[in-house]
Amino acid sequence: MNETNNLGEQPSAMMRCGYVAIIGRPNVGKSTLMNQLLHVKLSIVTPKPQTTRQRVLGILNEPDTQAIFLDTPGLIAPQYALQTAMMKIADQSMEAADVLLIMIDGTSKAESDFVQELFKTKLLHSDIPKILAINKVDRMAKPELLPMMDAYIKTGFFKEVIPISALENDGVEQMKQVLFKYLPLNPPFYPPDALTEQPERFFVAEIIREKIFLHYTQEVPYSTEVVIEEFKERERGKDLIRAIIIVERDSQKAILIGKKGEALKRIGETARKDIETFLDRQVFLELWVKVKEEWRSNDAMLRSLGYR
Ligand code: GDP
Ligand code: MG
Repeated sequence: MNETNNLGEQPSAMMRCGYVAIIGRPNVGKSTLMNQLLHVKLSIVTPKPQTTRQRVLGILNEPDTQAIFLDTPGLIAPQYALQTAMMKIADQSMEAADVLLIMIDGTSKAESDFVQELFKTKLLHSDIPKILAINKVDRMAKPELLPMMDAYIKTGFFKEVIPISALENDGVEQMKQVLFKYLPLNPPFYPPDALTEQPERFFVAEIIREKIFLHYTQEVPYSTEVVIEEFKERERGKDLIRAIIIVERDSQKAILIGKKGEALKRIGETARKDIETFLDRQVFLELWVKVKEEWRSNDAMLRSLGYR
């Protein structure tokens, strides 16, 4: 006999459903892969390392499968409190995962030491299935790739070793099918049309941060945080979004704003366009720059900014 609850609902059927944490060093292509898998630009991507600071959750719904991807900050040795918080976020994602997708940049020399270290430290006692994705194969020659794959297979660390190009969507479909095999059986955790659980304002702040990472150099992007202070949906007219860009010093504020406010205006325009695409509606975006000295090193400040 079929069960029903007091609302007359049938229990959800079991399917392949679980969490896949994407982990690796900064800049290997984790966020690019996440976006490619979901066919949506959910995670911000820039050529600079440490663009991703929070865990970004993306849900891939396919027949009989719900894979919940966790895009994470790249693993580094932290040097200030913000980076310590970022590493905690990465660690928690690894702990929550049913499958670990470890990603390396096939064109980088530093990866094999990183993998050895990872298995010696954080993954020493982990029995979660681990898959290795060797990314950026679009920049590699076959004679380089095959021995590399072989060496990683021989470590015995991984259930599977898969070469991909996240950027060119090469091998991604095959990798997805492999990942699915290792997901546990569960009733679905999210409705079938869900894409994420993070609120719109998180992604709006991320889009603004992406533009800052793309447009400024050196310390400015790393000294910047974005807070959405007001997000007002309006019946008539465009939604109003007021964002505060926090920096650590007056000199950074001056750079962000630029001569006659030109630089900030450019950030506002490019961010607004992407925000409108993401939300699929028009918005009015207001940007303000504020100095909060040493916010990256201040635990209380970091907590108030959502790094827990
Ligand atoms: P993350 O820090 O690991 O999240 O890396 P991102 O996804 O932000 O990507 C970092 C940089 O690598 C960006 O400039 C991407 O365009 C680039 N990238 C990502 N995947 C590939 C790939 O498969 N091939 C190449 N050539 N570049 C890639
Ligand atoms: Mg990233």
